Amino acid sequence: MKIVNIEVNEILDSRGEKTLEVVLTDENYNKASSQIPKGKSTGSREAVSLGYQKAKENLKEKILPEVLNKEFNTITELDNFLLNLDGTKNKANLGGDLTLGVSISFARLLAQKNKKELWEILREEFFQDENNSTPPRIFANMINGGEHANNNLAFQEYIVVAETKENVKKTKESLLKFYNALNEKFKKEIGSEKISLGDEAGFCVNLKNSEEPFFILEKMIKEDFSESNFKIATDIAANSFYKDGKYIIDDKEFDEPSLVKYYTTLFKKIELFLSIEDPFYENNPESFEKLKNLLDNNKIIVGDDLTTTNLNEIEKFKKSINGIIIKANQIGSLTETALAINTAKNYDIKTIISHRSGETDDCFLIHIAKASNAYGVKIGPPQRERILKYDELIRIYD
Ligand code: PEP
Ligand code: MG
Repeated sequence: MKIVNIEVNEILDSRGEKTLEVVLTDENYNKASSQIPKGKSTGSREAVSLGYQKAKENLKEKILPEVLNKEFNTITELDNFLLNLDGTKNKANLGGDLTLGVSISFARLLAQKNKKELWEILREEFFQDENNSTPPRIFANMINGGEHANNNLAFQEYIVVAETKENVKKTKESLLKFYNALNEKFKKEIGSEKISLGDEAGFCVNLKNSEEPFFILEKMIKEDFSESNFKIATDIAANSFYKDGKYIIDDKEFDEPSLVKYYTTLFKKIELFLSIEDPFYENNPESFEKLKNLLDNNKIIVGDDLTTTNLNEIEKFKKSINGIIIKANQIGSLTETALAINTAKNYDIKTIISHRSGETDDCFLIHIAKASNAYGVKIGPPQRERILKYDELIRIYD
């Protein structure tokens, strides 16, 4: 297939911040587009986003002269071409936002040409061994803290995890019921004027301390949602409260060993606890490993800022984790995202395909999840712009 044009448009993400839409045209004048989400609590090893102005310049000066009217038959061919053209470790030259946009839009053109869904094209090229079609577990954060909320909670996400038993629509409905019940509880106990929403539509409230949300979620699940089989997860996003070798939680200082102890004590008390993401600073993989070895085998230690969807980091840190967050814009192409997923799977690391805190209308993450038969998707609660990811799950699974 030949690309005859690439355009970029400036759009706003769910936080109202500028990001990119990338539109590709093929030799038959078919068009396909993609919109790129944006993170706030980012890992330092993530691909660089250069934004609209730079994307326009890079397209004109560096990409279009090389790419137009060349034949690319697979996503890998195009991505590798761009990877070589960029020549840096973190897409600092072309911008990971732009390269990912080109990659996804190209995959969509291939899908159109072959009259297939995006996920089918991805499965054929990258995940041929997958034939299962079980919906992923949904990681829906209900309470926000950290950098995603303006409140007193140190941890970024307090998550309810739902497994789909019947169909995704029913799962969505039970998560929505939970969300509304939590809203009613906070209105009654805290007052509606003291409730706002975090960046991913979870509740932003001030509570006694950073542990309290876990107990609130567990009590509600046990008392009112026992049929639903919900579990509890968290994204600690520890980069945000780490400074000079110390972690500050609720005005208390922790070093590595005392934080390991804090987590093991806390999660022994939470019966429904399933997984913990980024419990330590991104350059402390030894502590991830220590915690992993201390918790039961069925608990999941998840890397996000630690691993940044990067094959090399996964190789380096494979002993530190048994779960991983996959965000395509952390690495900047579908090919490298697929490589990260397949490498993780080789090491029995569970994959959770994730949104960003600044989201767009684009639901490519759901297609990556379906193509690769992911363990989970992290998509926020069924509220506001986050609802789009639920709708796409329902469309392609139910
Ligand atoms: C996360 O940290 O997992 C997350 C989704 O947040 P952000 O997009 O801000 O990195
Ligand atoms: Mg995270």
